[in-house]
Amino acid sequence: MNDLILLKPGELVLKGLNRHFFEDKLRNNVSRRLFGLGKFRITSVQSTIYVEPLDDNADMEEAYARCKQIFGIITICRAAACPKDKDAIAETALRYLGSQLAQAKSYKVESKRSDKSFPMTSIQVSQYVADKIGDVYPDLPADMRHPELTVWVEVRETAAYVHAGGEPAAGGLPVGTCGKAVSLLSGGIDSPVSTWTMARRGVQIYPVHFFSFPYTSELAKQKVIDLGRMLTPWCGRMTLRIVPFTHIQEEIRDKCPEALFTLIMRRFMMRISEAIALENECGALVTGENLGQVASQTMEAIRTTEAPLSLPVLRPLIGSDKEEIITRARKIGTFETSILPYEDCCTVFTPKHPRTRPTLAEVEEAEAVLDVEALVKEALSGIEKVKLQNESV
Ligand code: ATP
Ligand code: MG
Repeated sequence: MNDLILLKPGELVLKGLNRHFFEDKLRNNVSRRLFGLGKFRITSVQSTIYVEPLDDNADMEEAYARCKQIFGIITICRAAACPKDKDAIAETALRYLGSQLAQAKSYKVESKRSDKSFPMTSIQVSQYVADKIGDVYPDLPADMRHPELTVWVEVRETAAYVHAGGEPAAGGLPVGTCGKAVSLLSGGIDSPVSTWTMARRGVQIYPVHFFSFPYTSELAKQKVIDLGRMLTPWCGRMTLRIVPFTHIQEEIRDKCPEALFTLIMRRFMMRISEAIALENECGALVTGENLGQVASQTMEAIRTTEAPLSLPVLRPLIGSDKEEIITRARKIGTFETSILPYEDCCTVFTPKHPRTRPTLAEVEEAEAVLDVEALVKEALSGIEKVKLQNESV
């Protein structure tokens, strides 16, 4: 007999009539992420998702670890399984929660029963188990109002389960419940974090990377693929689109004022990303831009770079401090890869004195010498697609 995992959805409960849509999506996401770990039954009862293994070989350690990375779950809890028998339940509580009972200052037992054919009511189960705990820990006071430790008993179809509450999980909303967006993914620290942040709000991500071979190397490209893969346990499976960007950068270098190079380049990134977004029915773009971080991220610069677009640009890190972004990057596991020293196309041909307060008119005028439409079309036609999957998605 095997343990069970309980998942408590976060904000879903607030979503009124949409709740079923959110719950179905979440259950689907859970089922997809557990692929390859054995057979599970995934059900939701009273706002809790139960992940029950249906065979003894199910890899519960790995299942628990994967569930911790699924957005839409606020609390996760592992429970011990036992036969549906009152003494087996009491023994399991004493064994599984022994060290917690030994340290607690007070306790209570709460029971739930979804198997209505079980011969005791929930209250009877709680009382029986509490009595048995009282026999072993006679000095441990029961406290019905503010117990330090709550021993939970759940009597379900296949087995009974005992646990002591859960730990925080990934939070947010299930991926796929809040639309789709193209996320501009560089090899830096910020954009993996911005991608993760929007996925946490339920957005399905289409990552796009601009690649300037031979100015940026195969290693730089591989780094972005690796970063994308690291995000899949959170974001689900994704296809990375790698856009050839060399010709556009050379054209800008040869024909436009140096001080505006980065801005014009970024306008191209935005246009190409928007074309990919529209083709894939995405509703927005996502970037890791952060106000004031570099010359192209002043308010004036941001205005000029988003001017060619009709879709909104989501910038979840716009008001964060670098330290906060780094802390998050470490938590989600991308930081060490992000700091590998391979150049990004943004650092190729960087102007010595970039304009920090450009006007839209001057940027448009400088760009007018380029055949924007043809360059965008050419880049779009050379896209390489890389499926980002690891064994869990
Ligand atoms: P990051 O750490 O994300 O690279 P950054 O501080 O280096 O950010 P910039 O290089 O100015 O900032 O880029 C700002 C944003 O533009 C990035 O967060 C990313 O969303 C996008 N971006 C930059 N370079 C690329 C690229 N080569 N491919 C795709 N998107 C990019
Ligand atoms: Mg960058």
